[in-house]
Amino acid sequence: MSLKAENLSKTYGSGLLGGGKFIFRDVSFELEPGKTFGLMGPSGEGKSTLGRIITGLERPTDGAVFLNGSPLSGMKKAEYAAFRRRVQMMFQDPTDAFNPRKRIEYSVFEVLKLLDTPGTERIRCTKEMLKTIGLPEEVLARYPAQLSGGQLQRLALGRILLLEPEYIVLDEPTSALDVSVQAQILHLLKKVQVEQGIGYLLISHDEAVVRFMSGKMGMLENGKLEVVN
Ligand code: ADP
Ligand code: MG
Repeated sequence: MSLKAENLSKTYGSGLLGGGKFIFRDVSFELEPGKTFGLMGPSGEGKSTLGRIITGLERPTDGAVFLNGSPLSGMKKAEYAAFRRRVQMMFQDPTDAFNPRKRIEYSVFEVLKLLDTPGTERIRCTKEMLKTIGLPEEVLARYPAQLSGGQLQRLALGRILLLEPEYIVLDEPTSALDVSVQAQILHLLKKVQVEQGIGYLLISHDEAVVRFMSGKMGMLENGKLEVVN
């Protein structure tokens, strides 16, 4: 499936009285299966906002996101729900993704229940997922606070993978991790991309991270997206 952002603009707080806060204008880019578009730029330029717009969590002030040529804004409810499952988002701080009072297995099974995966299949799916993200089954019995940031970020990715996404918006996915762990997570993301053909929108202020992961790159600055080589 093709996912295209065309001429997106965002202004916060503009209404009949005007005077809104302008964030960016005329931003266009395309995500492709199995490839990474790297989005760089200083803090506050609207990178996360763009990520939320392309996942359908937020609406642009102007412009549109097109799925296979049709605008998201014209989707019916069921179509939109299917889209939301296919385009996932992963965040900087993996501790936010898990309930601190529940064992990891609870948070994983929650997703499988949502998917109506039969009880007998849940264990098999979970084991397969743990293999993909390179963690032992013991982690299932732990609480989030008993795991490292890197382990939790692997699990955050693993839980997203259970949904079989076609695209993932990675919003500063390694910024909260130690440098040595950052590289491991980036390698895992690459491996998963090759194996499953997932397209990424990688948001990062770290040029080295973006260059390692990305084919095409853009810099969001002063309200505009410039292509970077
Ligand atoms: P980045 O991810 O590049 O740091 P963001 O997308 O988080 O940038 O934010 C871009 C700008 O939009 C910031 O100035 C932020 O304060 C503003 N902003 C983000 N969300 C909202 C909102 N819901 N209402 C008003 N302003 C917002
Ligand atoms: Mg951000």
